[in-house]
Amino acid sequence: MSLLSEILDYNKYFTEEKLYEEYSTTKFPDKKMVIFTCMDTRLVELLHKAMNTKNGDVKVVKNAGAVLTHPFGSIMRSILVAVYELQADEVYVIGHHDCGMSALKSDVMIEDMKKRGIPQETIDIITNSGVNLHEWLEGFNSVEESVSHSVNMIRNHPLMDKKVPVHGLVIDPETGKLDLVSSGYSE
Ligand SMILES: [Zn+2]
Repeated sequence: MSLLSEILDYNKYFTEEKLYEEYSTTKFPDKKMVIFTCMDTRLVELLHKAMNTKNGDVKVVKNAGAVLTHPFGSIMRSILVAVYELQADEVYVIGHHDCGMSALKSDVMIEDMKKRGIPQETIDIITNSGVNLHEWLEGFNSVEESVSHSVNMIRNHPLMDKKVPVHGLVIDPETGKLDLVSSGYSE
């Protein structure tokens, strides 16, 4: 059985048995916050257990590494939507130790793409069109620095409400321990 049919089978059971009822809530976050964090598998439930947040409490935006690279990309747009239209009054940027993005090397990833059949010609066309693939696909050295960078980009964004605190934290993906990198209250 494929993963997809397994999921669809389970979903039939889930909806028929009304297992969704305990998750019933609204689109507005009860704790009035938006979290921007990493897509890491270990954080799927752990992050929320460790922060005591549950379904209905928070808006969550995720990407690889919790790295904000573009001031007018979809991550920043999501944060602005959460703040202006969905009642999120605080922003939490949460990186984590042992992140896949801390080890990511653009050279290796481009080689992996070629091994799977992406032609060098395609890489060249993209590069010649002005996209810096190496910069785009490169990970970070320090998670604390990366979190601070994302926090500063959000705080200093021209469309950001300056009254909204933006915090930076790093979570341990084993224990859930949070370390504060930067508090938005003291800014
Ligand atoms: Zn990560």
